[in-house]
Amino acid sequence: MKGFKKEIWVTFFIVAALGIFFQLNRMDVFLHINPWSNNASMGEAAGKEDYAGLPRERVLVIYDAGEVQSVLRRHMIEKILTEQKKEAVRLPLHNAGELPEDLGGIVVATNRLKDIPCLPEIEQYVAEGGTVLVLSQLQDDLLTDSLRQKLGVLSVGQEHNAYGVRVPGSMYIGLQGFGFDSAVYSTSIAEARLLPESEVEVTSADGQPVVWSHRDGKGRYFVCNKRERDDKNSYGMYTAMLGQLHEDYVYPVMNMKLYFIDDFPSPVPEGKFERIYQETGMNTADFYRKLWWPEMLNNGDKYNVKYTGLVIETYGSQVKGEFAPLSDGSARLGLIVYGRELLKAGGELGIHGYNHQSLAPAGYGQDHLGYNTWESQGDMEESLRELKRYIEEVYPGYEIHSYVPPSNILSPEGKQALKNVFPHLRVYASLYNGLATAKEYFQNFRVNPDGTCEIPRVSSGYVPLPEDVWENYNVINYNGVFSHFVHPDEMFYEESQNLTWEMMKKGMGDFLSDVNTRFGWLEPATASEGADIMENYFAMDYRLERSPEGLKIHCWNFSRPVTFILRSRKGIVSVQGGRVQKVQEDAYVLTVEQPEFAVEWAGEQQ
Ligand SMILES: [Zn+2]
Repeated sequence: MKGFKKEIWVTFFIVAALGIFFQLNRMDVFLHINPWSNNASMGEAAGKEDYAGLPRERVLVIYDAGEVQSVLRRHMIEKILTEQKKEAVRLPLHNAGELPEDLGGIVVATNRLKDIPCLPEIEQYVAEGGTVLVLSQLQDDLLTDSLRQKLGVLSVGQEHNAYGVRVPGSMYIGLQGFGFDSAVYSTSIAEARLLPESEVEVTSADGQPVVWSHRDGKGRYFVCNKRERDDKNSYGMYTAMLGQLHEDYVYPVMNMKLYFIDDFPSPVPEGKFERIYQETGMNTADFYRKLWWPEMLNNGDKYNVKYTGLVIETYGSQVKGEFAPLSDGSARLGLIVYGRELLKAGGELGIHGYNHQSLAPAGYGQDHLGYNTWESQGDMEESLRELKRYIEEVYPGYEIHSYVPPSNILSPEGKQALKNVFPHLRVYASLYNGLATAKEYFQNFRVNPDGTCEIPRVSSGYVPLPEDVWENYNVINYNGVFSHFVHPDEMFYEESQNLTWEMMKKGMGDFLSDVNTRFGWLEPATASEGADIMENYFAMDYRLERSPEGLKIHCWNFSRPVTFILRSRKGIVSVQGGRVQKVQEDAYVLTVEQPEFAVEWAGEQQ
């Protein structure tokens, strides 16, 4: 009897406890007990400037001030070298009477080679072991027989468009064997027949030479035989070429793999989408929950990716207050359930907006998208305050750091409204590349004067186009950033009408697998972590010391490890102050953890 009474009491307490648990759970109390944090701080900057007195590596850039293409190339090379913390020494063609001392390489950013006054000195520089990069579509009447021979060309013909890409050489990191056919991606090159001993690095799909090298004496010429494109692809190509300037060329990169999910978490469309329903037998909500999201989480695990999700509260088109909280509980439940799973998987929550109406006044290019235009910055702020309340209620204390503009449109007023309402915002993530005529928010990778970061996205989609993949892989070569985005509802788009969920699933996996195979050294990062990495990359400085025995990097003003790429064919027997990883026959990834970093070459190389 006594035992029975005890059981009743135990049961009573369990039932009561469960009741309280569910009641508290409904009140979201547990969300508040274990708040998610997004505000890790950077460590102290390491290293001293003791070595700032050592000279930076110097690269000479000869250009033609009278030619737009040449000035543009000079600008690009200078930007790359500046970000690599090397010195670009500018020399206009006509003033190039003699070569400066102590050069780490020469870039000739014009095809008017025979007009360079110090050409004999340049030829001697190569004969003695130097490397010269020639960037420009060749033109036959600007060459001499001797120059043709040195550059490795038999003959040069007319300029024309060549389509697609092949990468037979190893100039790029991770791209040997890469290639794609394309009816839209073309390069304007001069028709060139090469000497048999020339080594081809990059060609069009039908094998026409775009980049090649040719030995002369102890040194080498590299030719990039193309007209400047009006996109940013050349940054990767030129970085890969600069990497050939020295037998041990070293440069820092950001090293981050970013993956954005736009419009997520967001209200899930009601009902079913015919094509998905036909294929999977599921309505849209179930499809998200049971197929799409598990596949995303699975990919994150399998391919080492961290997601940054961009929250949206409603798909309403309201642009004037008052912005009422959604009465629809399912959207909020989505924010709770998907948001928690995203955070648990190491991801981050950023924002996309209260709704999907781009934060821009009338006439800002969003009209053709059918969006309403905002009357004032005040209205934008009011909508953002509602978004803030919405997120804060579920994730109290969680700092919002990143923003992606809907449809990649953001006005200065919109940017200011964001700053006013979300003072912890650190990352604006829009697009890297696009047509200048499109009024979209195109960005370069940089830290703004107010400390916020511009971190563009380079490619998109579950089955990205080869042209976009090429662009992303070029950016990885340029500054070590992989940046990609998708939308949960992409399979509903008109562009996707020929794709099944199975095809998208496969496309997603194949792409991430290819990225890992080619660039397995890239480290996954959320947008906030990306901002830390970017700040560190731009703030740090270093000097290089080379000797027959090895290589030293004196590094300072860094608060987290810095990644450097080393292009060298030498073997490494020991490393101090960090780690080293061989990634291909002629490339290493160096992780500099201490201010004094050194590698020692293997003996037989000396
Ligand atoms: Zn969107």
